[in-house]
Amino acid sequence: MTETKTGEAEVKDKPPEEKQEAKEEVKKESGQKSGKKNYTGSQNPLTIFYHWCKACNICIALCPHDVFIPDRDGKPIVEYPEKCTQCAICWLHCPDLAIVSNEK
Ligand code: SF4
Ligand code: SF4
Repeated sequence: MTETKTGEAEVKDKPPEEKQEAKEEVKKESGQKSGKKNYTGSQNPLTIFYHWCKACNICIALCPHDVFIPDRDGKPIVEYPEKCTQCAICWLHCPDLAIVSNEK
């Protein structure tokens, strides 16, 4: 059997009732989207331009999903990228336009 993608061979070998679950697992591992946001950790939903950021903390305070934590200078770190829904609140309210989406 020739394996074209990581995990595909294992999915084919599984009984039908386990196939869907196994496919989802392969998707998760390969970083593909399966309806919901599925960041792998190697991807980041946002880019923050720290040289423009003045550590006003607006983005940290307004994010409804607590994606950010402040670093020791008060600038935002994307600590929980998997929670980001791309709602746009942070980049629309940043007074210095220091946040951009990597998805929109
Ligand atoms: S886009 Fe929304 S959910 Fe994502 S970090 Fe910004 S405010 Fe939080
Ligand atoms: S809202 Fe903008 S300037 Fe303020 S802390 Fe966040 S990224 Fe920095």
